[in-house]
Amino acid sequence: MTQDTTVCRFCLESSNTKKNPLIDPCECRGSVQFVHERCLMKWRRLNPSRNGEYCLICLTPYQLKELMMFEDVPDENKISLLFLRFPILTCFTANYILIFHVSFERKKTFFDLFESYQYGFQIFYFFLFFLEWKVRNSRLYWKHWMNLASLYILFLYLGSNLLLHHGIYVAILPINLFLGLLWQRHLHTLRLMNQA
Ligand SMILES: [Zn+2]
Ligand SMILES: [Zn+2]
Repeated sequence: MTQDTTVCRFCLESSNTKKNPLIDPCECRGSVQFVHERCLMKWRRLNPSRNGEYCLICLTPYQLKELMMFEDVPDENKISLLFLRFPILTCFTANYILIFHVSFERKKTFFDLFESYQYGFQIFYFFLFFLEWKVRNSRLYWKHWMNLASLYILFLYLGSNLLLHHGIYVAILPINLFLGLLWQRHLHTLRLMNQA
């Protein structure tokens, strides 16, 4: 390997720094062997349909450090993610089912039923959230995340406090506000990471 071949296959520069090192992520050799970490990241971002998981020249999957994996940002418009986008929908759905239930059965009180449906849908929400919560570069993710963590902890504290002392009727709004922000923050963090 001579010094001449140690250039980035995309930008043709030979700079090699800790922040943006020249790497050889695939089986390609010769003039296309090296690429800047960031140049490769940019290229992969511009080719989301191919997902940038493998080299289009030699067809081998890129060998990348954990930090360089491309994050899959969920499509916000997917109908299955409607609950995650609008957690307040859990309240509406619980209410809607309750109306049907109450018209059939009158043994329990209205509020008992509301409470059980509401808890059910909140649990469903959390289940959906953790099903869709996929992060590849978790260390980088949490670093970004912690910048705004205090705001979320405040909401969670407020919601859980109200839940413990006054039940779910009172806690519903701050909890769903918290969950909605949490999901937005999750998507935002993933997008930020892909831009790094
Ligand atoms: Zn480059
Ligand atoms: Zn290659």
